[in-house]
Amino acid sequence: MTKWVYGFGGGGAEGSADMRDLLGGKGANLAEMSSLGFPVPPGFTITTEVCTHYSETGGAYPDSLEAEVEQALAGVEEIAGARFGDPQRPLLLSVRSGARASMPGMMDTVLNLGLNAETVKGLTAMSDDERFACDSYRRFIQMYGDVVLGVAYHHFEDLLEDHKLDRGVTLDTELDADDWRLLVGAYLKKAKEILGQPFPGNPKEQLWGGIAAVFRSWDNNRAITYRKLHGIPDDWGTAVNVQAMVFGNMGNDSATGVCFTRNPSTGENAYYGEFLVNAQGEDVVAGIRTPQSLTIAEREASHTDLPALQEVMPDIYAELLEVRRMMEGHYRDMQDMEFTVQQSKLWMLQTRTGKRTTNAALKIAVDMVDEGLIGVDEAIRRIDPAQLDQLLHPSLDPSAERKVLGRGLPASPGAASGRVVFNAEDAEGLAQKGEDVVLVRVETSPEDIGGMHVSKGILTTRGGMTSHAAVVARGMGVPCVAGAGEFRVDYGEKIMEVGGTVVREGDVITVDGATGEVMLGEVPTIHPELTGDFVKLMGWADKVRTLGVRANAETPADAETARKFGAEGIGLSRTEHMFFEPRRIVHMREMILAADEGERRAALDKLLPYQRQDFVQLFTIMAGLPVTIRLLDPPLNEFIPQSEEGLAEVAAAAGIDVSAARARAALLKEGNPMLGHRGCRLGITFPEIYEMQARAIFEAASEVAKGGEKVVPEVMIPLIVTRGEFVILKDVIERVAAEVKEATGVRVEYLVGTMIELPRAVLLAGDIAKAAQFFSFGTNDLTQTTYGLSRDDTAHIVEIYRDKGLFKDDPFASLDTEGVGELVRIGVERGRATRPDLKLGICGEHGGDPASVHFCQKVGLDYVSCSPYRVPIARLAAAQAALGVKVETNA
Ligand code: PEP
Ligand code: MG
Repeated sequence: MTKWVYGFGGGGAEGSADMRDLLGGKGANLAEMSSLGFPVPPGFTITTEVCTHYSETGGAYPDSLEAEVEQALAGVEEIAGARFGDPQRPLLLSVRSGARASMPGMMDTVLNLGLNAETVKGLTAMSDDERFACDSYRRFIQMYGDVVLGVAYHHFEDLLEDHKLDRGVTLDTELDADDWRLLVGAYLKKAKEILGQPFPGNPKEQLWGGIAAVFRSWDNNRAITYRKLHGIPDDWGTAVNVQAMVFGNMGNDSATGVCFTRNPSTGENAYYGEFLVNAQGEDVVAGIRTPQSLTIAEREASHTDLPALQEVMPDIYAELLEVRRMMEGHYRDMQDMEFTVQQSKLWMLQTRTGKRTTNAALKIAVDMVDEGLIGVDEAIRRIDPAQLDQLLHPSLDPSAERKVLGRGLPASPGAASGRVVFNAEDAEGLAQKGEDVVLVRVETSPEDIGGMHVSKGILTTRGGMTSHAAVVARGMGVPCVAGAGEFRVDYGEKIMEVGGTVVREGDVITVDGATGEVMLGEVPTIHPELTGDFVKLMGWADKVRTLGVRANAETPADAETARKFGAEGIGLSRTEHMFFEPRRIVHMREMILAADEGERRAALDKLLPYQRQDFVQLFTIMAGLPVTIRLLDPPLNEFIPQSEEGLAEVAAAAGIDVSAARARAALLKEGNPMLGHRGCRLGITFPEIYEMQARAIFEAASEVAKGGEKVVPEVMIPLIVTRGEFVILKDVIERVAAEVKEATGVRVEYLVGTMIELPRAVLLAGDIAKAAQFFSFGTNDLTQTTYGLSRDDTAHIVEIYRDKGLFKDDPFASLDTEGVGELVRIGVERGRATRPDLKLGICGEHGGDPASVHFCQKVGLDYVSCSPYRVPIARLAAAQAALGVKVETNA
């Protein structure tokens, strides 16, 4: 027979910590604490299965539930030495929700159940405090009325306010027992008036009302929204915890407080917490009275005169110290606990793993290894890789006020404030004057690169997680919010508008690229520091992981950052990104707009020295580590000048007139540039382009090798769909390599491989691997072409799909493991079947997403490659994947 109710208290429990699914987090914890011998007020947990039953049957309970509740209640009465509904020694109960995952404040709670006209007298006698008893009673009526009966809270608040006005007082504390007694009468009358029937006085009826209210609250709008935001399934249900009340407001020998076994913001190994004498739990968080410190050290650090618990209740403090020792010994993690002292007796109400800042998380994990509480593997498991972002970028000061204007996609983490500018030129101009700027664009293009570089933050109103702005900003480490569709940008007026607010050029805004929020004005940020604990933990992670981690980088600055963050080479160097700089982009455009091979070669000759120099720098910085250089893959539209000035500049450089340049630009216009003349198609139609690039690579490699440095170039061809294409282009590369070797006399080892980023390439991977020495999965394009969803234009569609539950996560951010991931798996299998030593990597944006990294480990890739700032995240995620840590993937 199914058991629906699990009791706890008196040093024992029917449930245990591993029954979280059935008892909810809170219930499992209470059971655990109780069986460990902590002083937990007795109670029982009604399982999550009852919630599911309740939802499925439209509000019915399993047959045997009532009998089980009766029995459990009798157990509680026995331990508590009080009876529910007893007029002399009434037991009072709390009824609280508690789901598998924490959903703070989303569901309902009722306290002080069991009070009525009779039992309130018993409570008065027990506490010897009529004021307290009547106040508890009116709190109960108010809470129960609101939560269970639907009598809005304000009806009671209004009565209270009126009464205070009549009495000429402003604070609740100025009311005495007579006042509260009168108010109880008024509350009961009000409830009856609204409900058309008396407020329930029968304790059993109150109890069942409370239980039903908690189950109902699982399906309130707040809870539903919260679940959607946090990916909590609807069918998990909540448990109900019914527990004997204890009171921290029964006089000056009573108190209530919260404490952390270690400091949650610094991780320091010291007790940390606050409490209030003669108060209830909510008074501590309500902020009306100033809470006091737990320890003398803390009190001194916060420069207050209010005495610490250590001083006012030394015995309780000593007991709490023992609790702390036992809690950490048992849970082996920092705990966040709630306690109440009722008439000099300590009660532990709750413990859970404490939330902490990333720095605290690192310190606690490393310290606990040193203290022998946990092993190195456990320390690695403890840190959420995504949380490392907090350390690598400035983040918003959590205590700062903010006025959120709207939001977009969290495209590149970090937070920054600056004056709004609407084009790259203005960004550069203002930045030169020493101003912090935030560049706002509908979308960005290579022309904006200079402005993007000098901006503190970037905001775009179109484009997804792999749009130009997102990819480039991430590479640069510039905070970026992309695809913020609710903002309207007017370039002409130099304004943007959102929800009725107009932001003008020069106004200050703040973007938070970690959350996607855009705020008006400057919001203070916190600048992180990489601590010794970080370095130590990452060192442990590196020893454990088997997956390599490289970076996507093309500029020397990015490559330096990548190495600093521990990249083991470059997995993608997008050569088209090397031509953004103004002097180069002209020649790049000249090359693109060339009328024939002769003109093209002339432009390429101008680009060669730049390109060679770039590679020399990359090879030098990467000193012996592999560097994957991808040959040109520009969707041409990104490089065609949009403005007349741009056209004029190119025309002048090429020695042709503007009308000819304009005509050629018009000829190159494509309806679908992403599916057009890009990638290796450019190499096939104009082999001289790849020839120039290969020359630059091998000349640079020879130069660096001559200097005594090992050089490992991996030449990568984009957008391949057939072995034939690959072979033609590989021949070009090999020919140039041989020519350079002949000319320089330096022998350079190199590989030639391909990106796998189109479904056809996946299907023919076995054939392509006959010629290609490595594959790198370009999951940006693979996602785009598998879904048939443009990576640049569909952020809003993805959003709607997520809202409707059609997509779990953005497939451009976290690999769609069952679709696109399946293609990767097939590509791996077919490629390796032909060439067992085929080197395999991924260089789409997914390479820095923890869940995707786990998938890469599973399908047997050799390495992941991601933007430099995500390298530590990938290193840690790879270590966790090697340890078999479970993650939710995007499927
Ligand atoms: C890809 O398509 O995943 C890739 C890495 O190439 P790009 O983003 O430059 O198209
Ligand atoms: Mg691509």
